Amino acid sequence: MQFAKRLEKIPPYLFAEIDRKRDEMVAKGVDIINMGVGDPDRPTPGYIVQAMHEAIDDPATHNYPPYQGTKDFREAAVEWMERRFGIKELNPNTEVVSSIGSKEAIHNTFLAFVEPGDYTLIPDPGYPVYRTSTIFAGGQFHTMPLFPERGYLPDLNAIPEDVARKAKLLWINYPNNPTGALATLEFFEELVAYCKQYDILLCHDHAYSEMAYDGYKPPSVLQVPGAKDVAIEFHSLSKSYNMTGWRVGFVVGSAHGIKGLGQVKTNVDSGVFKAIQRAAIAAYSTGETELQAVMSVYQNRRDIIVKGLQSMGWPIEPPKATLYVWASVPQGYSSAEFVTLLLDKCGIIVPPGNGYGAAGEGFFRIALTVADERMHEAIQRMKDAGIRYA
Ligand SMILES: *Cc1c(COP(=O)(O)O)cnc(C)c1O
Repeated sequence: MQFAKRLEKIPPYLFAEIDRKRDEMVAKGVDIINMGVGDPDRPTPGYIVQAMHEAIDDPATHNYPPYQGTKDFREAAVEWMERRFGIKELNPNTEVVSSIGSKEAIHNTFLAFVEPGDYTLIPDPGYPVYRTSTIFAGGQFHTMPLFPERGYLPDLNAIPEDVARKAKLLWINYPNNPTGALATLEFFEELVAYCKQYDILLCHDHAYSEMAYDGYKPPSVLQVPGAKDVAIEFHSLSKSYNMTGWRVGFVVGSAHGIKGLGQVKTNVDSGVFKAIQRAAIAAYSTGETELQAVMSVYQNRRDIIVKGLQSMGWPIEPPKATLYVWASVPQGYSSAEFVTLLLDKCGIIVPPGNGYGAAGEGFFRIALTVADERMHEAIQRMKDAGIRYA
């Protein structure tokens, strides 16, 4: 039996070759340091797990949840948006919907708004789902290259007029995966104005909203006056609270955007387990101290990696946010060649920058998802292999 044609259009898995090599080396007994995946290695904080224990013992959590999220959950999300970003008067009934993690909601947003003939505007490098979900929806993506010279912000003037007119969704993600780049409120203002001009739904994937260091606090696109007319923002507990396995988040903003997404969701899923929503409420009701305890672990790891790379000649500054260090490959290497060298000579797994789009060529990404000792070990192995930036 043939697969549907849409599956043939999905690009091949870029890490297939790396995975094959890794399996081969593991079979040979090589001690692999995997800094490839953006999946926190640390446990979910105890107070969240405790709230889950209590919630699961309550039979009221056992039946179907409301697809849009419980009233308590949506109200907690709205309160958190006000406390965290100063955004007032979000309507918990029409401007918020729960998600089974952002990935689900991102995909379903494409199904709600994109049809054949429509364009999506997506970042390159960027989270691969923007690309594949455009294909699933039968649309056409136009990539917005992110270059270091522009601080990894897309150049809106470079988008052709006819593409902008046919575009339905514009995707951004700051703090950014994979580059670690940040956006300012001024840039968000520019985006909001642009999306108003062309009648585009601005979609801000805010998966790293709380993963910031050195006192930096990433802004919300909804802080821009009038943003709610054209923008929705995707929040997730996955990365900030070490909760990737729990599958919970929310989408907030434009009532029209939320309505479209909600219409897909009522037809394809049945919401988030109510006990998990209660645990998420517990996460959102806690203060800075608990959050900073999680962040200080990553900040420390970031410093180990950045100092290590600097000592080998890398011209690199510590990123102020995200779970990643994005670095240039040394002169004379392609991304694929350098990550293969790291695997072969050092037993280190990192993804090549071009795995996130063609504009990522010349870079590699290190995820801060292994313990300090393993990070030190990785740096030492690179030094022992004689690797230097230049
Ligand atoms: C991890 C990640 C997501 C997905 O997060 P979930 O809420 O776990 O689905 C979405 N966008 C970006 C940019 C990510 O890095």
